[in-house]
Amino acid sequence: MGFIERIRSLMVGGRRARRRVVVLGADGMDPRIFERLLKEGRMPNMAAVAERGGYARMGTTIPAESPVAWSSFATGMNPGKHGIFDFLHRNPLNYTPTVAPVSVRMKFGKPEPVNNRTGVSVWKVLSDAGLRSTVMRVPVTFPPEKFNGRLLSGLGVPDLRGTWGTSVLYEEGGTDIHTEMGGVEMGFSHSNNGVYNTEIVGPKRANAPIPLMVSVQDGRANLQWQNQTLRIAPGKWSGWVPIHFDVSLGPLTVHPKGIMRFFLHALNPLKLYLSAISLDPSDSFYPITQPAHWSRELAARHGNFCTLGWMEDTWGLNENRINESAFLEEADLFYDQLEEMVFNLIDEKEDDFLIAVFEATDRNQHMFWRFIDEAHPAYNKAEVNTWGDTIDRTYERFDKTVGDVMKRLDRDTILMAMSDHGFNTFRRAVNVNTWLRNEGFLIADPDSCRDDFSMKDLQQEGTFWPGVDWSKTRAYSLGLGKIYINLRGRESKGIVNPGREYEELRDQIIERFMKLIDPVTGKPVVSVIHKADRIFTGPRVPEAGDLVIGFHMGYRVSWQTALGGFPPEVIEDNKRKWSADHCSINSDFAKGVLLSTEKYGALTGNGEPEIIDLAPTILRHLDVEVPKDMDGVPLQEK
Ligand SMILES: [Zn+2]
Repeated sequence: MGFIERIRSLMVGGRRARRRVVVLGADGMDPRIFERLLKEGRMPNMAAVAERGGYARMGTTIPAESPVAWSSFATGMNPGKHGIFDFLHRNPLNYTPTVAPVSVRMKFGKPEPVNNRTGVSVWKVLSDAGLRSTVMRVPVTFPPEKFNGRLLSGLGVPDLRGTWGTSVLYEEGGTDIHTEMGGVEMGFSHSNNGVYNTEIVGPKRANAPIPLMVSVQDGRANLQWQNQTLRIAPGKWSGWVPIHFDVSLGPLTVHPKGIMRFFLHALNPLKLYLSAISLDPSDSFYPITQPAHWSRELAARHGNFCTLGWMEDTWGLNENRINESAFLEEADLFYDQLEEMVFNLIDEKEDDFLIAVFEATDRNQHMFWRFIDEAHPAYNKAEVNTWGDTIDRTYERFDKTVGDVMKRLDRDTILMAMSDHGFNTFRRAVNVNTWLRNEGFLIADPDSCRDDFSMKDLQQEGTFWPGVDWSKTRAYSLGLGKIYINLRGRESKGIVNPGREYEELRDQIIERFMKLIDPVTGKPVVSVIHKADRIFTGPRVPEAGDLVIGFHMGYRVSWQTALGGFPPEVIEDNKRKWSADHCSINSDFAKGVLLSTEKYGALTGNGEPEIIDLAPTILRHLDVEVPKDMDGVPLQEK
């Protein structure tokens, strides 16, 4: 094609002649629930997608965790290349847990977030080929990378305090405590003139907390802070309201801005809730979009929106700072707003590729499974009629999104709907460090060991492993289902020699842990244990846990294990509202779903699609060469 023809073909829509690909993600959508609803005729829109192309259960990563699976989606690479193995990694120099997707380094006295994912994303490959993408809330996309197109970061964006979401419950007579899941409980001081005084705590380095005054009048609470006032009725959420802090960074004072929402529980006694403070999208302290100014444009068009990576307030519900209806009211609002943004972007038709991830399916399954599993220790029979259909309704909500997107697309556009992993009940929690100590792999003074770690320890680098004797300890567990060997030359106090000693120790742990029986059910607990270097390939394999645990259905590693804690029993009932999970379960029991308007062999019974195949599949649809270091296979070839 000559130069003139080439320009003309571009101008008359040559670019549009290329097909467009739209992917809608429903985090954690489980094939077993989806297939039941499909059979019941409650998934009409996804049924229509499957009718045109196909549907299959989709293999996920090991482990089946969102940061890992979505990183493999983005890069088409196994975790050994993209380097995200868990929600939490560990620092071998001091044995402390670290947040896996994002780390922070200081640059010119200012904290600067760094995305720990390596490997090239599919939208970057498309960009290099001259194509344009829009990426909405895909996990592990913070801070946003530069490419041809637009991106709103998802999981990994902190709140204004720099945490994954710190919410505060203010109660009359309350004392200041930090809860296990990153919440804060605070009291009011009550003055004679009927005003309740408390404060809003900001980032770690903030010069001072912001005074908050509350007075009660005519059945409402009047809130005052900075130059703001807010009037709020019991049982209601406020809209978004602004706040800023003054933070000294060396000689510099910065003023990070946030937006926040209050929920008023009750007036007498006064009980008030403050959700995690979002970075203000109109003036964000860290860029949360690519290009950086795009978050301001989104806010101007759609109003203020939650910018937090983990938007839904699962932590507040899990620890009873808010109830089910307040949780769902807020989560629904966030869902609707993201959906509105996505519809708008699709209507603009500016992209060759668009991906949007909706997370309500994941969050609502975590929190509402206790209403559908009668054998769950937290099964709540009394409220089954009220909340028992929440999960089904969440699936139906996503199905409606798929239908409304379909209506906006021309017949040439390829539409995929998919999930990164599935779900299982989480009835019993396994304390892996307690087991390692009982078996003599980990040597610790039981009287000094802790079982009360909280998110605050993680955020503020608390003291981990009190009472542990590293000179005699051979293995320890951190994160969601990892066992690390105390390896000489890698761990700072390592005692296990690489080579034969290391291999024999791993075999010994596998053999004994596989035999663990739940005394309550009499059945085995562990389904599979992988050696990391056998399942991953690439330069970052040394960062993976030495052993990756896959439990049987119903079991998950305990919260305390994730942070290095030692509760007394090896296996304990999970009585929390967080009642279902996918982390540390055998990935074969946590498959996701894939629907596409295209027909592939893997959607019609020939082999199984894997999440790692989607990046090369998208590239193939858009006639872009698949980079050699992608591990996935285009589904067109499978
Ligand atoms: Zn999840």
